[in-house]
Amino acid sequence: MSSSVNTPAAAAGEPSRAVSETVVMKFGGTSVADADRIQAAARRIVAQRESGKGVVAVLSARGKTTDELIAMAEEVSRNPDPREMDMLLSTGERISCALCAMAINDLGHRAISLTGSQAGIVTDTSHTKARIVDVRAMRISEALDQGLIVLVAGFQGVSTSRDVTTLGRGGSDTTAVAVAAAIGAEVCEIYTDVAGVFSADPRLVPDARKLPYVSFEEMLEMAASGAKVLQLRSVEYARTHGVRMHCRSSFDPAPGTVVLGEDETMEHPLITAVTHNTEEARITLVGVPDRPGAAASIFMALADANCNVDTIIQNEPRTEGADAEVSFTIGTEDLRAAEAALAPVQTELGIKTVDTDREIGKVSIVGAGMRSHPGVAGKVFKTLAGEGINIEMISTSAIKISCVIRSGDVPQAVRALHAAFELGEGGIQPEHGPR
Ligand code: ASP
Ligand code: MG
Repeated sequence: MSSSVNTPAAAAGEPSRAVSETVVMKFGGTSVADADRIQAAARRIVAQRESGKGVVAVLSARGKTTDELIAMAEEVSRNPDPREMDMLLSTGERISCALCAMAINDLGHRAISLTGSQAGIVTDTSHTKARIVDVRAMRISEALDQGLIVLVAGFQGVSTSRDVTTLGRGGSDTTAVAVAAAIGAEVCEIYTDVAGVFSADPRLVPDARKLPYVSFEEMLEMAASGAKVLQLRSVEYARTHGVRMHCRSSFDPAPGTVVLGEDETMEHPLITAVTHNTEEARITLVGVPDRPGAAASIFMALADANCNVDTIIQNEPRTEGADAEVSFTIGTEDLRAAEAALAPVQTELGIKTVDTDREIGKVSIVGAGMRSHPGVAGKVFKTLAGEGINIEMISTSAIKISCVIRSGDVPQAVRALHAAFELGEGGIQPEHGPR
């Protein structure tokens, strides 16, 4: 096996010289949850190596480790310091990597585990939600050149001010993609507990279809609207850097779903998938002064608090001088931070009330073919109406239609839309695949 030493230009994300036949294999938490699974992952990694490829494996923390570490922090502190939180959370992935390296060594191969910092993952300074700014992959490349299997602790890096950072929940996917981009790997394989990306959540829709291919654009919309298989940021990173992702089962050798450039797929089905999210809340601001800059103050405050806002609706007052009403949806994990960020804005602008509704959910349909086909929105609304489901907010992009509804209505809405657009195993789907 040969691999080129990474140049600084390549590390910064510019097209790098392809390292011949190197793959990045990322294993999620359930795939390394206990000793047997670590050994199974080790065997799968070794099998790739024995087929002649260079292998970098990125591992998540085992099972519920990250949740347990968060709970430990909350036991000792009401408001854990973010820097120390990252020191704590980063340990989960280190455990997985060290154990897996031991298992690989027992199989007669040489492995080396690296922390995110040792692997050269450089991030910004936003603790617990850091973004990767650079991958200085020299150490990975050198280890590959020596024929070693390299294990990289996912979900973490070192900030530009030399502190340990973590990348947000699910961040190991992004580590894997970033490493794949930096070393020019042929593919970034994401091994998980599901068989791939489906046309809907198979737990809600038994005849959901495993999708052989999905474009980056569709996958981005799907991840943003609730599909949990891949972290949103990892898909953004993969699209920007042109990294092909293959999402597949750790327990089954069958191929999963390949996420690739839209120009690499031949045809686009009208609708690809129905996604949903019940972990959203809606905040409604009543009595917002109708003047330039009000919305800016509200949403800048939320941005400064790192809150990801989704659908936004503002109602113009009908009478001159009256107040406006602004509502928006937000992930429930950001709710506390959002309420705290809005408190000073409420006083400053003289907003009357800030109401929170936690019982909302969202159902979305995503498909690249929607761009060139009218009538999709009408069919979505008609389908939901036929189920007696009330739509509270609507938002669209060129390839997505989302409806905010009561969270209790979500399962029925998903099933009805999946059936109406014939997305199931029996449905007629135009074939599409790599050119
Ligand atoms: N262990 C982290 C989490 O649970 C990161 C990851 O698994 O990707 O979110
Ligand atoms: Mg994950």
